[in-house]
Amino acid sequence: MSELRFPLASVVFGGNEQAYVQDCLDTAWISACGPYVGRFERAFADFCGVRHAVACANGTAALHLALLGLGIGPGDEVIIPTLTYVATANAVRYCGAVPVLADSEPRTWNLDPQQVAAKITPRTRAIIVVHLYGQPANMTEISRLARKHNLFVVEDAAQAHGARYDGQSVGALGDVAAFSFYGNKIITTGEGGMVVTNNAALAARIAQLRGQGMDTEHRYWFPVIGYNYRMTNVQAALGLAQLEQVEANLSRRRQIADAYRQRLAGAVQWPQSVPRAEAVNWLFTVLLPAEIASRRDEAMTFLAQEGIETRPVFYPMHVLPPHREFARGAGFPVADCLAQGGLSLPTWVGLKETDIDDICTALKRWLAVAQVAPLAFRPSRPHYETECANVCSGVL
Ligand SMILES: *Cc1c(COP(=O)(O)O)cnc(C)c1O
Repeated sequence: MSELRFPLASVVFGGNEQAYVQDCLDTAWISACGPYVGRFERAFADFCGVRHAVACANGTAALHLALLGLGIGPGDEVIIPTLTYVATANAVRYCGAVPVLADSEPRTWNLDPQQVAAKITPRTRAIIVVHLYGQPANMTEISRLARKHNLFVVEDAAQAHGARYDGQSVGALGDVAAFSFYGNKIITTGEGGMVVTNNAALAARIAQLRGQGMDTEHRYWFPVIGYNYRMTNVQAALGLAQLEQVEANLSRRRQIADAYRQRLAGAVQWPQSVPRAEAVNWLFTVLLPAEIASRRDEAMTFLAQEGIETRPVFYPMHVLPPHREFARGAGFPVADCLAQGGLSLPTWVGLKETDIDDICTALKRWLAVAQVAPLAFRPSRPHYETECANVCSGVL
């Protein structure tokens, strides 16, 4: 995916990918008909421990379908973390609903239940939790709030395939969940997504909306407006083969995270699990020390010169032009801090221990130089209101 010596992410096709895709070509089942879609859906539902799975074109479509299936529409408010990938907010907007932005917890980097509680109004219909970088959100508190106020819980599990909370898999923790199978995700189909739920009626509605709204009993009769959000048999063939290897891949990702933690302990911070959570390692993401956090982009440039591709933590929704009006004047100090001082390091199953040695040595070399001369506050990006050094040292 990158010209650099250490790409941020890549894929290893170590199982039946070739054979299954060849089978699609041999049988000419290359569109959304064909046996792999159903097989992948069944296997993915079992992987999550839920009853129903509906495969679709990508993770953003999965989120859109999940919200449409719940009946979210104009006038409804949906609480989301401001610190997420833009797809979470976009899906709410596609429905004509209002994304209500909430700040993150310093510990998990995920939706802060106290911030959620403060943002609930009579118009609130749902909360979308995002298990950022593979770290499960604080589901005990979020679920309690949802029950109390009669709200739907939607999981954006695009970055967290296989993570668990209280012994249950993500995807099984709310009313409905969306997964992504983009090229850099834990399971990939190139582009692809999945909606999972235990609710049969909801799954049926979502499956109908995925296929232009066609009536399941009456072919070519369209009682509602739907979408063409189908997954192809070829994508599903890749997905099924990837899913067959997921346990080995998750365990390799765990080793990679352990290796990073061992080498970087005391030098940088990273998200921590709440007690009942078992995280997976999507992209190993670190926060630079408070006094140099605003120089994150310098660190990225330095690492790129060493052949190491990194990625900044997502811009929070409250700074992005299409969504910033939904900040409604609120401050988001934790998200600002993480977005300014956070960066993701190369993470994929082909990464070797010696690669991690080289990456950590380079990062520590930059830290050593930067810490000798921490500059006065100089935001690396002009979008944040919060002086990171203060917030980081105050709350993290
Ligand atoms: C990747 C991702 C999505 C969207 O997935 P696509 O397959 O790229 O459409 C949604 N939410 C989060 C948090 C993601 O990381």
